[in-house]
Amino acid sequence: APVTGNDIMPSSFSQTPTWQERKTVKSTKAGLSAIDTPTADQLKDFRLHLMMHLQTSLDTEQLLRTFFTEVQHLIPLTGCDYLNGDAGLSLHMGTPGRHRCNYQLSLNDEQYGEITFTHRLRLAEQDLALLESIMDTLIYPLRNSLTHRKAIATAMIDPLTGLSNRGAMAITLNREIDRSRRLEQDMSVLMIDIDHFKQLNDRYGHLAGDDVLRNVARALEDCVRACDACFRFGGEEFLVLLSNSNLPLARQVAERIRQTIQTVCRSPDPKKPITVSVGLAHYENENDWPELVTRADKALYQAKAAGRNRVVASYVRNHEGEWV
Ligand code: GH3
Ligand code: MG
Ligand code: MG
Repeated sequence: APVTGNDIMPSSFSQTPTWQERKTVKSTKAGLSAIDTPTADQLKDFRLHLMMHLQTSLDTEQLLRTFFTEVQHLIPLTGCDYLNGDAGLSLHMGTPGRHRCNYQLSLNDEQYGEITFTHRLRLAEQDLALLESIMDTLIYPLRNSLTHRKAIATAMIDPLTGLSNRGAMAITLNREIDRSRRLEQDMSVLMIDIDHFKQLNDRYGHLAGDDVLRNVARALEDCVRACDACFRFGGEEFLVLLSNSNLPLARQVAERIRQTIQTVCRSPDPKKPITVSVGLAHYENENDWPELVTRADKALYQAKAAGRNRVVASYVRNHEGEWV
């Protein structure tokens, strides 16, 4: 018989561990001695069940939610916060309580963030001891999920310029087009290409060329707002996404980019400043990002043909038949 998902699941996976059925919540003066203390066997079962469950997701947020939900079966916690600045994670689960206990998560000197459990009442010593005894089930799955998260983030970065790459660009553009359509917001893209870059490579070498690419990338980032995004599209081509920008605003930014690059980017040839040509397209309800980027690309070719070092916008007819 074929093996189905259910067949390979250990039975403890879908079943409630037996000790849970007998749990009772008792309030004591000392605080909350919550649930009947599990026996050694029950705790072993719980740990096994928890470890299996924690292996089902590489998503850090999902993993922590699973851990918190499971732990709540054992200890009556109300809230859980997870903070990891390096990974850009700040999660808040459940409802915060006045009493808290906090753990710095680390393994072989590597830091994996900080987890804080909270409760309305002071936690009894035995609950704290229980909590500590199961924290070790979290650390390896957490480390794996953070490594996975980092690998994905790294795969989205162009190593030369540090800008997001084309893979990230496709994801971001899809999301932004969706948003613009839903909220009926303006959005524009700029396709930017360095002028006569091959000449520069040929005369001064590829490493000098690489320096110029890095300088152009920094200049782009300096010219846009935090809500905009710059991507390395390909060799010496960059794409800038301007959210919430109509055509005149996008043109202004494009012009600022063109002038900034010409003035701040150091050129290996003092007689020939680094210049770029820019093709601009405002989002006009295209179905997908390639349609929009194709228009920006066509405008870029017009800028090249017209003599380079300039901005050309793509115009389309609106519903009233006017050129916009
Ligand atoms: P145009 O003004 O028409 O854009 O001319 P161009 O010379 O800039 O354009 P072309 O497409 O002929 O040349 C682009 C060059 O960019 C060719 C390629 O060697 C160079 N290039 C692409 N990627 C890199 C890179 O990562 N580093 C360096 N140094 N050069 C690169
Ligand atoms: Mg090019
Ligand atoms: Mg070029």
